[in-house]
Amino acid sequence: MPPVPSALDVARDLIRMDTRNPPGREVECAHYLGGLLAGAGLEVSYYEFAPDRTSLVAVLRGGGGEAERKKPLCFGGHIDVVPLGAKEWSVDPFGAEIVDGRLYGRGSTDMKSGVAAFVHVAMKLAAEAARGTADIVLAICAGEETGCEGSSHLGKTGALGEAGAIIVAEPTANYPVLGHKGALWLEVESEGVTAHGSMPERGVNAIYRAARAVTKLEDFDFNVKPHELLGRSTLNVGTMEGGQNLNSVPDRAAFTVDIRTLPEQDHGEIVSGLQGYLGEESRIARIVDVGGVHTPHTDPWIRQVYAAMEQILGEEIEPRGAPYFTDASALTPACGRPPTVILGPGEMQMAHQTDEYCPVAHIAQAVEAYETLARQWCGSAKGPRETAGPGGRS
Ligand SMILES: [Zn+2]
Repeated sequence: MPPVPSALDVARDLIRMDTRNPPGREVECAHYLGGLLAGAGLEVSYYEFAPDRTSLVAVLRGGGGEAERKKPLCFGGHIDVVPLGAKEWSVDPFGAEIVDGRLYGRGSTDMKSGVAAFVHVAMKLAAEAARGTADIVLAICAGEETGCEGSSHLGKTGALGEAGAIIVAEPTANYPVLGHKGALWLEVESEGVTAHGSMPERGVNAIYRAARAVTKLEDFDFNVKPHELLGRSTLNVGTMEGGQNLNSVPDRAAFTVDIRTLPEQDHGEIVSGLQGYLGEESRIARIVDVGGVHTPHTDPWIRQVYAAMEQILGEEIEPRGAPYFTDASALTPACGRPPTVILGPGEMQMAHQTDEYCPVAHIAQAVEAYETLARQWCGSAKGPRETAGPGGRS
């Protein structure tokens, strides 16, 4: 067996691969990770939702017999990153430089360091003879940033079986987060009939139709109670366009709507409700459709996660939600809706920023967290906490 590379080294390799989405091109990154994991003894399969848009699923088989196995623990993450933005970076965004204890680069926080941490832990456990009874499944996804395309594809193709619990390694500074809202992004289009601008009575103005719809939406009420952790569902009209020239009656106008939903809201019902509310003048198309997730803090596994993370972080954990959506939107339903936690080394406020970085110490801490939780789940030998002595590292 080749030696297990450190999580930091893997993270640096990943950052040096340009997976900006669009266009994505995660293929090289996916095969690099697949090579490491297959070399360590995991079963690796690749899935492409489009050419070069590669996700992978890697399974570390537990040591126990089929009958005594509990459901696997699933780690999830994505390997695409967002574009660099207009502002110039003061470091090479694909250089993976380390300065003052910070690992810099696009994707360092969101979320290649998180992926590197769980890949490292899986390789480490794979090298051990007694690894516990349960399987560990890694779902490493392409195309998250544009609406969970890779993880949705994994769900649709049946690449993932049931899981007993899921850890999504998105940036939380290693604080366990219990859920997030869903996103329903729509385009609403109005059609009209064009005519000369000097004779508007001969046409039907699509911009007037769209404008009426937008105005109605300002007062739209979802009629759902706020969520205990995630608050209210929201709606925002983000863009609007219409018409081709000043002196014609426009025959097309469209606007986009960003709806953030609560986990219990059904997106199909929202769309049909909006269609009824706006009437036949508006045609609604879904652009992104990812549901929310939430696991109650009273869930027995979440209690275990809290106990482990209170030790590692040295502070009391309270229920928190995340402002962004993650691959959990697709992975959690695809795996039979097991308890799901979002926990990763990146800094939430560094995601999508110029000069993005991840504190190097957080990567080691994430390794400790994932290893502890994986050992607990699989019932394998002593985790690092038991051997680190009282207090341990924090
Ligand atoms: Zn992310």
